[in-house]
Amino acid sequence: MFTIGCHLSIAKGFAAAARDAASIGANTFQFFTRNPRGGKAKELNSSDLQAFADVCESEGITRILAHAPYTLNPSSNKSETCQFALQTLADDLRRMEHIMPGQLYNMHPGSHVGQGAGVAIDKIAEALNTVLEPQQTTTLLLETMAGKGSEVGCTFEELAAIIDCVQLSSHVGVCLDTCHVWDGGYDISQNLAGVLEEFDRVIGIERLRAIHLNDSKNPCGAHKDRHEKLGLGRIGFDALVAVVNHPALRELPFFLETPHDDLSGYADEIMRLRNAREHGLDS
Ligand code: FE
Ligand code: FE
Ligand code: ZN
Repeated sequence: MFTIGCHLSIAKGFAAAARDAASIGANTFQFFTRNPRGGKAKELNSSDLQAFADVCESEGITRILAHAPYTLNPSSNKSETCQFALQTLADDLRRMEHIMPGQLYNMHPGSHVGQGAGVAIDKIAEALNTVLEPQQTTTLLLETMAGKGSEVGCTFEELAAIIDCVQLSSHVGVCLDTCHVWDGGYDISQNLAGVLEEFDRVIGIERLRAIHLNDSKNPCGAHKDRHEKLGLGRIGFDALVAVVNHPALRELPFFLETPHDDLSGYADEIMRLRNAREHGLDS
């Protein structure tokens, strides 16, 4: 099955977001658990969640991806910031069990803010060891980062080092962002097979659970993190189509985080990807 969607707002509730997804030809979507800059999450509304379950059922939505606020930094040098990250992660993971069990929750690992990647890796792993619960059904994903500023997780080695220190690592996976790995120096345009081999060798391909599908405004290795619409950036449409068709990736859920002002831009990209998707035995 081709599981394709984009980032959507849940400002009008989860049921409305699922209807938005269906209206643009998507069968999955990503949402921020709360204001991306942090703050308190909106109270969950049980009638909205019931309506959400009904829309998902009728529209064939079986996969959703939550995204943590991107200001979270469990590897900060300030203890209040680390404390806030822990509280938010724990609260988000609890809420995920109510929103829809068995789903995915993605976070940016953190920034080392001058302490060095090694210190940050230990702090991030410690945070995960604090918030992960044995009985949780949600899989927490660490996103591959572009490496702007002091971001941790722009190499596969850094992500592997974090996961290696997590006790409940069966609850942990990776979300590969095509813009970020490209900006991080992995040439998925000329050498997708080689990059995936490296991912498998360093992290293990079975950890890969979701793809953020974005083009990049900048050349490979730029460490900038400026997303571009599919085909208008430096990765190119054909290389991104190769990602959605790759045998090791094609059953994963794909999420567009491309810069559009309205839903029609996403609808168009989803339609073009559906047309470019190769029809194998499983689709
Ligand atoms: Fe992200
Ligand atoms: Fe992303
Ligand atoms: Zn990004």
